[in-house]
Amino acid sequence: MTHWSTEDAAFMRKAIELAERGAGYAAPNPKVGCVITDESGRIIGEGWHEKFGESHAEVNAHRSIAPNDLNHLPNSTWYVTLEPCNHVGKTPACAALIESIRPKRVLIGTADCNPGVSGGGIERLKQAGIRVETGCLESEVQWQNRRFFCNVEKDRTYAVLKWAQSRDGFMDPRNAAERAQGSGGVAITGDASRAMTHAWRAEEMGIVIGVETALVDEPQLNVRHSRGRSPKAIVIDPNGRLPIGHPLMRRQGEDSIIHIVKEPSLSRASEICPWNPESGLKILLGKLWKKHGISSILVEGGARTLQQFLQENVWDELKVWTAPNEMKSGLKAPEWPKNAIPPEHETAAGRAGPDRWNWALHPNNG
Ligand SMILES: [Zn+2]
Repeated sequence: MTHWSTEDAAFMRKAIELAERGAGYAAPNPKVGCVITDESGRIIGEGWHEKFGESHAEVNAHRSIAPNDLNHLPNSTWYVTLEPCNHVGKTPACAALIESIRPKRVLIGTADCNPGVSGGGIERLKQAGIRVETGCLESEVQWQNRRFFCNVEKDRTYAVLKWAQSRDGFMDPRNAAERAQGSGGVAITGDASRAMTHAWRAEEMGIVIGVETALVDEPQLNVRHSRGRSPKAIVIDPNGRLPIGHPLMRRQGEDSIIHIVKEPSLSRASEICPWNPESGLKILLGKLWKKHGISSILVEGGARTLQQFLQENVWDELKVWTAPNEMKSGLKAPEWPKNAIPPEHETAAGRAGPDRWNWALHPNNG
């Protein structure tokens, strides 16, 4: 039941590309893009949701229209990746803006799944007598907003597991006993892959590590070798082993960590997430989303933490680096899960310098 042409699909693809510019900044809001064309199919406006709390894609696209193009608005077509919002949140409702303009046609990628929004925006535009069509490049838009849809539908943080291993499957040439506190991490992969890993970090709202990695590697957990916003550092430390003087604990303000401990009394961090490991990781991801507003996390280790996510089968994506060298012994990397499937809309493997990356999804994803 498609009503759109190849040209329509091209404008929607353009809107998806615009939406992607909000990656890492729009969260926990969805990424949304908007293209406005005139009756001859010329683009007169484009915009995207640039940053959480700021104006939406439709408003930005409307604002971008040159004054001498405003007369085209009654005959315009709007391409919006996600259903226009119909509730007044941090900004006025976009459905009200479009309703006031009464364009000839509105094409929507996918309906919003947010209970407060779903169907409301589309219904409002239809009732205003505007021709509305939904489902143009729908699976691409849903893939682009997989973190957002996970938050709303599963009521938990979206989890991406990431590790780097040698060709023979080790994460560290030292075994657990040889890894002394504060001795630092071992670089397995090269500069090109590091830049890519930092770009991956910038796409998520949090980086999760276990206390062992925090104590031994003392990682900085920020975005240095790529553009973008640094995610929040999140340390799983049920028994509160992380000392107050640890570099991660000394972080202040926006940069401060979320400290996951069994009992709040075990931590002096400014942001504490009480969680009992016996309750399972799904409960933890629920808390990180509902109580801390973390839309997505990159779980970077160590081996035991990654293993736990895999064993409990609580993960959405995997991103794994494999370096060309062999270690022969040391700390074993997790096993690639048998149920992992390749992503439909992306390349499943590639190279950066000498290193190879593989990308896969949980079978319930996508
Ligand atoms: Zn809106």
